[in-house]
Amino acid sequence: GDIMRKLASIQTVSVTEAIPKADAIERLHILGWWVVAKKGEYQPGDKVVYCEIDSLLPEQEEFEFLRSSCYKPAIVDAENQVLQRAGFRIRTVKLRGQVSQGICFPLSILPVGTSQEVGTDVTAQLGIFKYEPPVPVGMGGRIKGTFPDFLSKTDEIRVQTIEDVLGRYARTNFTMTEKLDGTSFTAFLRQGEFGLCSRNQWVDETDLSNTLCRLAAELKLAEKLETLRTSFEISPAIQGEVIGPGIQGNKYALRSPELYVFNVLDTDQYQLVDRSLQAKMLESVGLTSVPSLGDITLEHSVDELVALSVGKSILNPKVQREGIVFRPEVEVNDPDIGGRLSFKAINPKFLLKFDE
Ligand code: ATP
Ligand code: MN
Ligand code: MN
Repeated sequence: GDIMRKLASIQTVSVTEAIPKADAIERLHILGWWVVAKKGEYQPGDKVVYCEIDSLLPEQEEFEFLRSSCYKPAIVDAENQVLQRAGFRIRTVKLRGQVSQGICFPLSILPVGTSQEVGTDVTAQLGIFKYEPPVPVGMGGRIKGTFPDFLSKTDEIRVQTIEDVLGRYARTNFTMTEKLDGTSFTAFLRQGEFGLCSRNQWVDETDLSNTLCRLAAELKLAEKLETLRTSFEISPAIQGEVIGPGIQGNKYALRSPELYVFNVLDTDQYQLVDRSLQAKMLESVGLTSVPSLGDITLEHSVDELVALSVGKSILNPKVQREGIVFRPEVEVNDPDIGGRLSFKAINPKFLLKFDE
C-alpha cells in the first residue's frame, strides 16, 4: 500500500468505556484505536480531531500542556540543517493499565473554514508533521537519485486505520510474517542496470561506506539477481529488511548485518511475483525470507489482531517482536486502500518499550 498516512483527521468517537480502577479517565474507540481521555470529555458519536501516534504537534498554545510529557527538541546535523523539527511527539503510552494510542481534540482547534466531514485529513492545517527519528549511522553515503518509479515503496498500513475494510475480508486466508525492526532495502536488475535503494533513495552501490552496499556485495546480490533474471525470465527486484549492528539498536543482537526478504517483484510488470513462486525463487539463490508466523483465516477484530501481534521475536526470543505483517494468500486490490491489500499490527508491548 502506498497511501499517504493521515496523521490528523476528523473521526467519530464510536464507544466510550470505563477503565477498571480509574475514576478520572476512560477509553475512547476511534477507528480501530483505543485512546485514553478525561472522563466525560467526549460522548459516543462526537466528532473529534484524532492524531495518530508519530504525530509531531507544533509548539502552539493549545498543545503546550503536552510539553512536560512529549516535548522533543529539534535535531540538527553538523551543518545545522534541521533533520527533525521540534514539537510534541505523540506516542503509545499506558495509563492505568490501558494502552493509549493517539490523542484527540475538539473540532474547535481547527482553523475556521476547515471541512468537518469525517475522514478529512487536517494534518497540514494543524501544522503537524510525522515524527521520524534520524537515519541510522552508516546508511548515509553517496546518493544516485530519488527512489525509482518502477518500484514501489514498502510501507504497510496500520490495521487500526482499516477496521471498516477488514469486514470485507472475513474468512479470507492471510499469511503472517514477523515485522522486523531494521531498515528497508531494495535491490534491482533492470535493463542491464543493477541498483540498490534505501527506504527513500537510490544509493550509489559502489559506495562501500554504506552498510547496505557492503551487505549487497557480500551477498553477491548482483549475481543472484542475474540468476533470477535468466531462470525466471523477469526483471527482478527484491525488497527486504536489513537488521544488525548500528541499525535500530540491533534488537536481534546480531554480529553483522543480515537481509530478510519480504517482496520479489518483476519490475517489467510492476507487480509482486506470487507467494509460492517467491519462496521458490529466494530458495534457488539462497536468500532468506522474513520469519513466517503461519497462516490465518481472518475472523478477528482489530483488537484481536493487535493481541495476536504481542509476542517474542523469532530471531531473538529475548525481545518483543515489532509486530506482524498480514497479506492475503491470493493478492487482492482494494479500492479503499488504493492498491494491494497488506497491513500490519504493531505489538503495543514493543512500542511501549522501544518507541522513545
Ligand atoms: P518508518 O517509521 O520509516 O515509516 P516503518 O517500519 O514504520 O518505518 P511501516 O510503513 O510502518 O514502516 O512498515 C513497513 C516497513 O516494514 C517496510 O518498509 C519494511 O521495511 C518493514 N518490514 C519489516 N518486516 C517486514 C515484513 N515482514 N513484511 C513487510 N515489511 C516489513
Ligand atoms: Mn511507518
Ligand atoms: Mn521499520
